[in-house]
Amino acid sequence: MNFMMQHCCYDAVPTSNKLVVFDTTLQIKKAFFALVANGVRAAPLWDSKQQCFVGMLTITDFINILHRYYKSPLVQIYEIEEHKIETWRDVYLQGSFKPLVCISPSASLFDAVYSLIKNKIHRLPVMDPASGNVLHILTHKRLLKFLHIFGAMLPRLRFLQKTVHQLGIGTFRDVALIQENSSVYTALEIFVDRRVSALPVVNDAGKVVGLYSRFDVIHLAAQKNYNNLELSVKEALRQRTLCLEGVLTCYPYETLEVVIDRIAQEQVHRLVLVDDDQNPKGIVSLSDILQALVLSPAGFDPDTLSAQ
Ligand code: ADP
Ligand code: ADP
Ligand code: AMP
Repeated sequence: MNFMMQHCCYDAVPTSNKLVVFDTTLQIKKAFFALVANGVRAAPLWDSKQQCFVGMLTITDFINILHRYYKSPLVQIYEIEEHKIETWRDVYLQGSFKPLVCISPSASLFDAVYSLIKNKIHRLPVMDPASGNVLHILTHKRLLKFLHIFGAMLPRLRFLQKTVHQLGIGTFRDVALIQENSSVYTALEIFVDRRVSALPVVNDAGKVVGLYSRFDVIHLAAQKNYNNLELSVKEALRQRTLCLEGVLTCYPYETLEVVIDRIAQEQVHRLVLVDDDQNPKGIVSLSDILQALVLSPAGFDPDTLSAQ
């Protein structure tokens, strides 16, 4: 916690990084193709009338659009083909715009973790207050990487040697799952209803055989096959290119240190907690880990955060 209070967001900005910005008058379809073409997961939205950044476009928005307008494999999604980002925001958000959540380069990394978790977002633009330019988009992954690299020089916390079970870090009840034979549309429904970032994929016997994350939905744009959401999750995972094989898991008897090392090494946002028979028992996400390492020691518990 002290480490995160003593370092500022600028310290976590890489020396070179790609940033893609979209004008809100850009067509939705072009915007998602541009995310894929540039290999980025999100982009700040620039409103040229107001001359300021007004929000973010993320894969969650792509999911919301598909979920709202998809009818059947036989009907092209007119709204994706024709609408502009601003049209979508006007229709979907109906004036209740979530203002852009951003952070100054001089704010502490503690504040960045607080903002990501409090606002339940995964993308936090670092904005230079003088120029109004976005310098970088901070994520849980980047923050953990920073903590992991520099934390290695800090005295070992005894807490890290405790097991996931002892610490209770993660979500263990009501885990949102998806059957491998369910359709991608069903997965989108769960993403929208439960607002979770990924679904452990289970077979008929209930064993964990894969993971379908919000990020994987962008492959539908990459392969231009978002018109057929009847496709099974199993097939969608098979069609993914350049992705992790299988599923990364952890066990309740593994220590937090082992779990953090695995997440950092594999550069994923979460591990699926399983028992020895590969039955799903929970999710240990970067949000849970940063909450436990950074916010809880400062007295910010999940309940107090959601009440604020
Ligand atoms: P993903 O995990 O798909 O990248 P997020 O969880 O970050 O998406 O986004 C959830 C919703 O919040 C989306 O509608 C997105 O546009 C919005 N959002 C994300 N980051 C910000 C931000 N910094 N400011 C305002 N809205 C944001
Ligand atoms: P993001 O960088 O947007 O947070 P994620 O970590 O959710 O992205 O996903 C990036 C890729 O890694 C996706 O293809 C996803 O399926 C895969 N992935 C994420 N977590 C796991 C996991 N625990 N096991 C297997 N694959 C995973
Ligand atoms: P995330 O969106 O992954 O950053 O996580 C936010 C919270 O949702 C964390 O407490 C996770 O443990 C929890 N969570 C993530 N995925 C799931 C899921 N499939 N089912 C239930 N909870 C989840």
